[in-house]
Amino acid sequence: MLVLAATYLMFHEMGHLVLHRYAVEYIERVKSPFYDQTDDDHRRLRMMEIQADSYAVDAMFESINDEHDRFLRFLAAIIAHLSEFFLRHVPNTKAINYPHLDERLKRVIKKIDVQHPGYKMQLDLTLTIGLQTFFALTFAEYIPSEMKDFAFNDSDQLSDYLFRLIDAWKAK
Ligand SMILES: [Zn+2]
Repeated sequence: MLVLAATYLMFHEMGHLVLHRYAVEYIERVKSPFYDQTDDDHRRLRMMEIQADSYAVDAMFESINDEHDRFLRFLAAIIAHLSEFFLRHVPNTKAINYPHLDERLKRVIKKIDVQHPGYKMQLDLTLTIGLQTFFALTFAEYIPSEMKDFAFNDSDQLSDYLFRLIDAWKAK
């Protein structure tokens, strides 16, 4: 699993090398300490990260049709993104030259096409427990005072709830 998660991160970097090889001078310039980045630079750098993430997903799933193999790769991609959440000291997922952490994670979640109920459940649990761990590690309130407000019919409802809390933190 760790190897797959590391592979995902490696594919992301490879995506930069492949997709942004024509932008090396630009990247060097905007990342030099004497350069004042503009909003347009932030946007362009964020777009490059989205492209590299997308490249990583495509590379991970190229010619992988077996359900179990796809499950493992989705699990690895989720864990690779969650691992960045756990480096934060506050429950804020914002970034300047990167897309917000929750947006990057959501883009992977949207691509999940695993049908097997057991695999699907494990992916859902990894996501929802991962996000709750993020709140717990950053000492954020995520369990409402009324326990009845913390009951969900399915894991999608729970993950929607958790992502809404993240949105609320970003809006602060
Ligand atoms: Zn990157």
